[in-house]
Amino acid sequence: MRIFISADMDGITGITHPDQMFEGRPGYAAGCEAMTADVNAAIEGALRAAPGAEFVVADGHSQGRNLLIEKLHETAALVCGPMHETSRPLSQAQGIEGCQLAFFVGYHAKAGTEGGLLAHTWAGPVIADVRLNGLSVGEVGINAAVAGHWDIPLGMISGAHDLRPELDALNCGTLLAQTKQSYGRTAALCLSAKKSRAVIAEAAEAAVRALQQGRLEPFKPALPVTMEVDTHRREQAQKAAQVPGVKQTEERTVSVTAESTLQAALTMWKAMCHAQDEAPNWLK
Ligand SMILES: [Zn+2]
Repeated sequence: MRIFISADMDGITGITHPDQMFEGRPGYAAGCEAMTADVNAAIEGALRAAPGAEFVVADGHSQGRNLLIEKLHETAALVCGPMHETSRPLSQAQGIEGCQLAFFVGYHAKAGTEGGLLAHTWAGPVIADVRLNGLSVGEVGINAAVAGHWDIPLGMISGAHDLRPELDALNCGTLLAQTKQSYGRTAALCLSAKKSRAVIAEAAEAAVRALQQGRLEPFKPALPVTMEVDTHRREQAQKAAQVPGVKQTEERTVSVTAESTLQAALTMWKAMCHAQDEAPNWLK
């Protein structure tokens, strides 16, 4: 079995603040250690139910160079580097093709989640909301739909309790490894590192068993699919609409309709890369 793990940083054990998540900030080195340990916990849990499984891990945060390969579980291959449209068009899901199951480790609630810990979608300064066929989704829903393009179910996600409504909306049997109780944008009640990793490993093991027992469904929005993004500012929507296939439908809304969710996500990611004010560091 080949399992894909997309790892973000906001939902990692003990992380509640940007100082723990960006290069050059005081808590960053510890944040990278924690992110690597959470991914390893998911791998170890999955191996209990599927000995011999292989893993592809995509570093899906910021510049894509956070996970520590020297400490990464030996069964995993690592997708790293910036999520630029030309090099990693699938961004956080790069490397997923050919896998049978997906885990999202260290994920966070979508833009606009009230009291959501570090809540945003894709690019916080640009995006106010994303919708798939009218359903408001965050990175969980977007990447679950990309996985669903290849009929790959999302077995488990780890992060704060505020992710629960997004999982319920997908209704695919995905398990939540809840490692934090969010108090607000940068505050949470966090499990100890040891307990948190045990929770992640248990959920990963249970997810593999759920797959084996046919209790997981891939998330597959009806086709053709329409993906819409509300931007914060009108100029951002205007810039996004310069990408072929993208239409500006309202002052701050752009829309893509495509024959596959994969195509919709590829086009919209490209549009969002274009909508930045200037090329940000995390795309370099
Ligand atoms: Zn993210």
